[in-house]
Amino acid sequence: MSFSQLSLHPDLLRGVKEVGYVKPTPIQQDAIPPAMLGRDVLACAMTGSGKTAAFTLPILHRLMAGSRGATRALVLVPTRELAAQVLANIQEVSLHTPLTAAAVYGGVGMGPQEHAFRSGVDILVATPGRLLDHFRMPYAKLGKLEYLVLDEADRMLDMGFLPDIRRVLRHIPAKRQTMFFSATMPPAIAQLSREMLQNPATINVERQSQPAVGITQAVYPVAGELKSALLLELLKRGDMKEALVFTRTKHRANRLAAYLVAHGINAERIHGNRSQSARTAALAGFKNGTYRVLVATDIAARGIDVEALGHVVNLDVPAAPEDYIHRVGRTARAELTGEAFTFVAPDEENDLRNIEKAISKRLPRVTVPDFDYKAKPAGKLEVPLAERIAEIRARKAQERSRAAEKVKRRDQGGGGGSRPASGRSSSGGSGGRSGGRSGGRSGGAGGGSKGPRSGSR
Ligand code: AMP
Repeated sequence: MSFSQLSLHPDLLRGVKEVGYVKPTPIQQDAIPPAMLGRDVLACAMTGSGKTAAFTLPILHRLMAGSRGATRALVLVPTRELAAQVLANIQEVSLHTPLTAAAVYGGVGMGPQEHAFRSGVDILVATPGRLLDHFRMPYAKLGKLEYLVLDEADRMLDMGFLPDIRRVLRHIPAKRQTMFFSATMPPAIAQLSREMLQNPATINVERQSQPAVGITQAVYPVAGELKSALLLELLKRGDMKEALVFTRTKHRANRLAAYLVAHGINAERIHGNRSQSARTAALAGFKNGTYRVLVATDIAARGIDVEALGHVVNLDVPAAPEDYIHRVGRTARAELTGEAFTFVAPDEENDLRNIEKAISKRLPRVTVPDFDYKAKPAGKLEVPLAERIAEIRARKAQERSRAAEKVKRRDQGGGGGSRPASGRSSSGGSGGRSGGRSGGRSGGAGGGSKGPRSGSR
């Protein structure tokens, strides 16, 4: 099947062609025709399947008809990254249409987003929390809404957004077309879909979600303390050109990135404690090749779209099989091939077995020939909390005594004039910020869909 057989508006077909899509992916083939006819859709689809265009294309097609000037479509997503990514997809395929779109998410100013509401952009892509913030204001009205998409519904559940979603539903018309996308269908999500959908076209729901085809998956058994050394080894051997690496905690992400940088590998990190501008800069740097490695905690897993990403590494085994499937879905997107490596310490074997059960296959175990599996670890990724606190206390005491020394010297008339440092600590030090501007607006915290794209894809 080709895109032209889907009867999409010619202006959209032009956009699709320019983005480089040659033929619809299976989810697009299944979801677009019923959605074009105005039916509700319930789809079990993971990232990497082309699910975004499976809902954006039919909505854009239908928006081409009818009046403009009021928001008629809303896409709810769990994370800022995903919001920016969905917006980017809309902007790309709608380039030759007059339709406008904007993203609404937290961590950036409300002003441009307010403007998007007031100007009535055709499509809003929003995270639930920030959307509810806007709903408190008189300008935020979505009474003319005709299309609603819930994207990555299972992740919304994981992140505790279900009550927020129900709250959002109170602000939008009950009569609408709804599309519901989720990688997995746990009971709470199945229930929500029943509440939200009417006689939906159901796609792929029976099938248990599987990582996209084309991914070569392998397991690297290794002692916990040697995981970072093993990663470094694989990077040095050239087994991986670039990699998205997942760690269990933010702290481990920080330490791993610092370890790699100390060993000459350009690496950045992205996790919930980092500001939006730092995350955006890290992601852009990874996409444009500045960083060979992007270390991320799970929060980033779903939102990152890096075309033709070769490698995903699970430095730690994800506790839930669904997380594994989502993470490895970063690679081999839309039928490109990729590899997903999972490092497994002896105490993680159980979690690994659960994953293997969920994907119904045993993953091959790999031993790296020249790697010293008995080496003494260079350093731990996780410094125990007590040790960290003791270290901070010692440093503070030192700073205080140095400051007191200086004051004493100055009081004694000892010249020099340098005032004691104010004792401000530079929290975390991301090693060079990218100049302030990048975070605020990029990813479309407002404005029309024809705004400049960063060109990072
Ligand atoms: P998604 O599952 O929506 O996150 O999309 C995964 C990736 O596949 C994105 O990089 C899309 O740009 C790309 N993609 C989506 N549809 C197609 C298509 N029909 N042909 C080729 N690539 C596609």
